[in-house]
Amino acid sequence: MAGVHVVVGLGREIPNGGEIKVVFSITGVEPDGEGDDLSDEVGQRGNTCATGLLLLVGGFVGEPHHHAVSEHGAPNAVLALSICSLVVGCLVCLRGAGPNRLLVVAQRHEKSAALNEGALVAYASAMAEDLLILGGALIDGTGAEPVPDTALLLSDGAITAIGPEAVAQADPGVTTIDATNKTVMPGIIDSHLHCSFDDVVSNDELFFHREPTMVALTTAQNLQKILRAGVTSFVDPDTAHGVGPAVRDAVKAGVIVGPRMKTGVQALVTAVGGTAGRLIPDEGTVGYAQVVNSIDEVILWTRRHIKYGADWIKIHATGTVPGGKGELLVWSPDELRASCDAAHALGVPVMAHCRSPESTIACAEAGVDLILHGSYMDDAGLEAVLESGAAICPTFTFLANLADHGSKVGVTPGMDNIFRGEIAATAKMMRKAYDAGVKLICGSESGFALTPYGHWHAREMEVFVEELGLTELEAITTATKNGAWAMRMEDEIGTLEVGKLADVLVVDGDPTANITVLQDKSRLSEVICRGERTDLSAPWPEHRPIAGWKVSGWASEVLTWDRAQA
Ligand SMILES: [Zn+2]
Repeated sequence: MAGVHVVVGLGREIPNGGEIKVVFSITGVEPDGEGDDLSDEVGQRGNTCATGLLLLVGGFVGEPHHHAVSEHGAPNAVLALSICSLVVGCLVCLRGAGPNRLLVVAQRHEKSAALNEGALVAYASAMAEDLLILGGALIDGTGAEPVPDTALLLSDGAITAIGPEAVAQADPGVTTIDATNKTVMPGIIDSHLHCSFDDVVSNDELFFHREPTMVALTTAQNLQKILRAGVTSFVDPDTAHGVGPAVRDAVKAGVIVGPRMKTGVQALVTAVGGTAGRLIPDEGTVGYAQVVNSIDEVILWTRRHIKYGADWIKIHATGTVPGGKGELLVWSPDELRASCDAAHALGVPVMAHCRSPESTIACAEAGVDLILHGSYMDDAGLEAVLESGAAICPTFTFLANLADHGSKVGVTPGMDNIFRGEIAATAKMMRKAYDAGVKLICGSESGFALTPYGHWHAREMEVFVEELGLTELEAITTATKNGAWAMRMEDEIGTLEVGKLADVLVVDGDPTANITVLQDKSRLSEVICRGERTDLSAPWPEHRPIAGWKVSGWASEVLTWDRAQA
């Protein structure tokens, strides 16, 4: 998503009354920070001309680069595109000296990314039918109380009317969805999951037994499970073999089906490693990790990940050392700052895995935008977070599943109390942070054997209610409105308001009375993403064992001679 995205709203009439909009991006040019002035943001004649040329060539070969077109009733979309490309290309070239006269909208990175996505949605949903949802109680995701019996009209992938206007504006033959006695709410945004891990059992399996192409293929299947569970958007911090940007782009282009997605490439780790001990090599890359051994390498890999298409940079700030207790901060303040500065200079935010009190302080002070876990955060940590304005995604779900259900899937007895203790200690401070105004984000850590895709995305809300004492509505807001912040799409998704994109759930039940109904897929009547209904009746996507992937031990106990005689 690096680059300045430019929307040229030509609004050109074509013979049968349709309209064409063209979106293209000038990659390799980054917004320079605060300036809103177009010439400040783009302004370089060379780039503009190059784009014009690109479009010209695209027009000639009939396959323009980076286009998204919303067309209604065009007799020949390809022809229209080509003509349009030529027109735009010529205009851009001719007016290279004054691009700001031509460029109708050019905005900063996050905003323009959303615009680009919006245009793609318009393209994808050109064939999506209008939907009128009737009779449901509407939770809009802003934290407002549910409004009973509220209609919602979805057209062209967006919310076009709410309430009586929705009914009034709907075409007579519109497809209606009866949501009587049900709840209508924004799609869930899971701001911390790992879509490429395929419900992995161990780091050994993830690091050494998986081949990149198969990782991408299984990810494509797992995205369907995530969507089927009501997740219409997610953020993935780091991906096996760095497949994240390619997967995201495949979803955007309609190659595969999945929720909206923002992604990192791999997690930056120091040579100490993270939670994988000596499985992390001294240098290079493995699994989800990229080792950085100096400030120069920190900057180098931050920039490379952005070049590869990272929406977020992920820092693994804490790790384990032999004999050490818990996780320790394994980055220096200068290293943390180097990554934050390099990322921010290119308009990309940074998140960090922080599972020690010191790490939350150091990361907040270095400029990290999103703290993951924030385990054992203390008052000084909270102060640093408040000072920096960072958000926190505690991601209790993995721990909560271990504590509550681990014994059912072979987790060592006694571990449950350890994890319960970590949750309790951290939850107290998270409540304090929430009360102090810190933005709390909902994430599930799905992708591991303890948090398989499609099962636990809504559990974090239950933990927020149970352990932090949030109301159900407040918990829902962390997974809707606040999630849109993590997606850098606050103007586009997260709440049900006119003009926002059509990511909507219809739930058979009242999550404000019982938040756990959101975990029960049999209660999901509709999952609408980009204005399109998801087929919830198809068989659950599942794959058989993949050759060489699962690593099993030879035995769970040692076979001594005595044991054999017993
Ligand atoms: Zn994670």
